[in-house]
Amino acid sequence: MAARIIIGLLITVICGAIAGRRFYWLSRLIRSGQAAPRRWNGFAPAAEAEVVEVAGQRKLLRWSVPGTAHFFTMWGFTVLLLTIIEAYGALFNRNFHIPLIGTNGIVAFIEDFFSVAVLVSLVVFTVIRIRQAPARKDRSSRFYGSHLGAAWLTLALISLVIITLLLYRAAQINTGHFPFSHPFTGWVGYGGPLPGHGPLPVASSWAFASKVVASWLHPLGYGVNSTLEAVFLLANIAVIMGFLVFVSYSKHLHIFMAPVNVAFSRRPRALGALDKTPDMDMEHVTEDTVFGAGSVRDFTWKQMLDFATCTECGRCQSVCPAWTTGKPLSPKLVIMGLRENMFASADYLLSGEGEPERLVPTVIDPDVLWSCTTCGSCVEQCPVDIEHVDAIIDMRRYEVLMESRFPSEAGLMLRNMENQGDPWGLGSSKRTDWLAALDFEVPVVAESIPEDVEYLYWVGCAGALDERARKQVESTARMLHRAGVKFAILGPNESCTGDPARRLGNEYLFQEMAKANVATLNGVGAKKIVASCPHCFNTIKNEYPSLGGDYEVVHHSELMGHLVASGRLVPGINYTGTVTYHDPCYLGRHNRIFDEPRNVLSAVPGVTQIEMERHRERGFCCGAGGARMWMEETIGKRINMDRTEEALGTGADVVSTACPFCMIMLDDAVKASGREDVAVLDISQVVERSLG
Ligand code: SF4
Ligand code: SF4
Repeated sequence: MAARIIIGLLITVICGAIAGRRFYWLSRLIRSGQAAPRRWNGFAPAAEAEVVEVAGQRKLLRWSVPGTAHFFTMWGFTVLLLTIIEAYGALFNRNFHIPLIGTNGIVAFIEDFFSVAVLVSLVVFTVIRIRQAPARKDRSSRFYGSHLGAAWLTLALISLVIITLLLYRAAQINTGHFPFSHPFTGWVGYGGPLPGHGPLPVASSWAFASKVVASWLHPLGYGVNSTLEAVFLLANIAVIMGFLVFVSYSKHLHIFMAPVNVAFSRRPRALGALDKTPDMDMEHVTEDTVFGAGSVRDFTWKQMLDFATCTECGRCQSVCPAWTTGKPLSPKLVIMGLRENMFASADYLLSGEGEPERLVPTVIDPDVLWSCTTCGSCVEQCPVDIEHVDAIIDMRRYEVLMESRFPSEAGLMLRNMENQGDPWGLGSSKRTDWLAALDFEVPVVAESIPEDVEYLYWVGCAGALDERARKQVESTARMLHRAGVKFAILGPNESCTGDPARRLGNEYLFQEMAKANVATLNGVGAKKIVASCPHCFNTIKNEYPSLGGDYEVVHHSELMGHLVASGRLVPGINYTGTVTYHDPCYLGRHNRIFDEPRNVLSAVPGVTQIEMERHRERGFCCGAGGARMWMEETIGKRINMDRTEEALGTGADVVSTACPFCMIMLDDAVKASGREDVAVLDISQVVERSLG
């Protein structure tokens, strides 16, 4: 007895010290990060996030087979914490049981059930890994680039935890030290007493798996079972503690990190607004101010926590439009690269020794950095709430604001925005040209919004200045007018919201333009704004409040959905056809508006909607976001072609969307595909067609 206590405690102290040292080191590393804004929204949102994301495994369950297997593994480990308490209790007292619940057979059943569930899940993981093994060197595999050796070791260690657990419980049954009784009858379970010993004090019938293993060990007799009980108990403790050490040094750190990362994730969602971090406040700039992230020391502690939490599951990689079309950007590889760099820079971060590496181009290739469309697919899919877009934008901010390094085409866009107020450089005088297509008057606000006007229509640069996007704006205006909605526009007083500059990394230009727009909007007394561009909508709704602009902002799909539902706008019967709807990233994933545009289309009697395989949360980007609209796309397949092929594959007559940039990108690709028979239309244009 004394020997097993000494061995058990020795293993625990040694492994506990190694793991504890590592966790302390990690916590110091993460706490060395910069301050992170908007990270604690109170106990209730954090608790909800834990229930939904960690306990409920919401994002993982979207991936049905591996998600279900992970669900059972995670819950298995949680439930089996009870068996760890039992094991340490049994180390000191063979008759130990947890007070109150420790003899209840239902607990024994639950423990055995999850032991078996974890073993089955491990078999599923093994099959998945073997089946995908040949494809892992292929970049289409989500495991491409992940550390594979560690994954096999993890499977082996988890298997050993469960196997040693079942073996020591089985030996306990045979020696009469299994603490559980039958919950209802007190029935004595497997096999009865071993020769020379009294009746078993417990019933093992509900510990169905342990009981089966006990039947295999039973013929060995009491003495051998007694020895096996001690051996497997120590083996179980050794494997658990070994696993703890392994976890603290591997990607499986997420077992401990994920609940923490989820608790501090941005709520209600990590997408939508970008942070206006303190060091970006142009009013408080000093000569020591660093804009964005040039080296690991510039990341916030939350970003460092993100890096440490990545499980290398590759879900982000498999949905990234840049990666899947052959570009070098993989959000997983970005996070893994930043994590490796963080670990390699530990001496600097913890004691200021040496100099950390420059992130771009040493750690992150410029082609990686500039490939991101900020579509948010990676953030949406990440099961541990990592915020890739923020890290990418912070690195862009450093490149643009500190180094003046960015793709040359983007430079032209920035100059146009700065000088003319729009990315194309067409100037404010053209912002009312589209009104000529209307047969009614739209007030153009100069000083204050007339009292009878309900909405200020934020037209957006594309809507006002691009020939194709204008069609969307014209239709939207006509539909609002038809429904009796009084609206006005700012015309030449409107300028770009600053979204492309912000997503490109030019936070200075964004804040300048945003402040000017807020001054204009506040000056004319804007209260309710409708925008038909999801980028404008997102910026005014989610980002202007931090700059003093608080308005009720709706997207035209929401307003039209309301008008249709309330009967103020009744679609006609003059259009019949099949329509597939493309979710704009900044409307769908960034702002959770998935149903409203579909509801508008459904209200048109002649429309039959067909969904693309990648839709709603999994909608595939058109390629225009993140200021990519103004950059060359020279690597890999064009993203808009990839998306359009999927849309055309549905056989729909119309590819519909609710974003001027998506319209332009998809229309280009449809034309390039030679499919002039397929129209790309905004939802407002579909409604208008139905009216004849
Ligand atoms: S935001 Fe989109 S393009 Fe950028 S890394 Fe994530 S998935 Fe890829
Ligand atoms: S960032 Fe998230 S989704 Fe991507 S590999 Fe890491 S854990 Fe998986």
